[in-house]
Amino acid sequence: MNNNTRNPEDTVLIVENLCVDFYVKGKLVHILSDISFTLDRGETLGIIGESGCGKSMTALALMRMVPSPPGMIRAGRVVLNGEDLVKVSEKRIRDVRGSKISMIFQEPMTSLNPVYTVGNQIAETIRRHNNSSRSQAFEEAMDLLRMVQIPAPERRLREYPHQLSGGMRQRVMIAIALACEPDVLIADEPTTALDVTVQAQIFDLLKEIQDIRGTCIILITHDFGAVAEMADRVIVMYAGHKIEEGKLDEVSSGARHPYTQGLLRCMPEIQTDPKENREPLPEIPGTVPDLLRGLEGCPFAPRCSFAMPKCQQLPDYFDLGYKRSVKCWLIQEDVKVKKQA
Ligand code: SF4
Repeated sequence: MNNNTRNPEDTVLIVENLCVDFYVKGKLVHILSDISFTLDRGETLGIIGESGCGKSMTALALMRMVPSPPGMIRAGRVVLNGEDLVKVSEKRIRDVRGSKISMIFQEPMTSLNPVYTVGNQIAETIRRHNNSSRSQAFEEAMDLLRMVQIPAPERRLREYPHQLSGGMRQRVMIAIALACEPDVLIADEPTTALDVTVQAQIFDLLKEIQDIRGTCIILITHDFGAVAEMADRVIVMYAGHKIEEGKLDEVSSGARHPYTQGLLRCMPEIQTDPKENREPLPEIPGTVPDLLRGLEGCPFAPRCSFAMPKCQQLPDYFDLGYKRSVKCWLIQEDVKVKKQA
């Protein structure tokens, strides 16, 4: 669906000025700073950045699963279908998790319980959120295994996670995440441990399920290729900040933040001629900053070839259109240059 044709009532999730802090070694560390975005019904939002940029912490904060202590949601709202998940009771958030918002974790082997059968684990999720009998829950579990295209689901229901391939375990995780038909599905690096063929199959499956159920998907990844495959819109994160947001084509073909531009340059292209001598892939110099040291100004400045004196202050968000913004002083300079011209 075209983003511009969506109605306000299509908006399922509103995240506003979300801030997460951790106490580490007696210091308060800002892990997420001022994260805001919205998600419409049937939309896929890609959240991209290097490890340690705050992508997975954003997912945990949306589910209100930030480990506390040492962490806490210091400020902000996570409004799902009109209900602020930051404020609801512990009992209510346990009900919401799994039934309204659920998550596919990175590594199915460590997320699935090795001592219970696949059927038990899916059926338990179903029974936790509705009043199905044990036999009904197993019937529903079988339907879910069919939906995620696991062959011989009757047999697989009775098997343990170690008896399944990596791709099948990830399908089981998807089945568990979808068991109660959530409005929002968070997929945190769902294909990291899988080869490219299985990765493509998992993405196709997620798209199919989204078409049938209208589920919103938040895809968390460090891989722009995965985002290009799945997402309608993209948020780029760096050091706990949202530094660029836009529609997939706006960001992939017109990135404005130097970090996003660097990420795109690092994407490998398919080599069609094996004899072709190719330049080594460029890399973004330096590393993600240590948040423990505290940051002043633009967090990307030590790695940015455009850094200027003004970058010692944290940049504002510059609005470039409908759900399109960039957090970089260069945008302001650009505007000034254009105005003067
Ligand atoms: Fe580079 Fe300055 Fe923009 Fe940060 S604000 S990305 S340092 S130009």
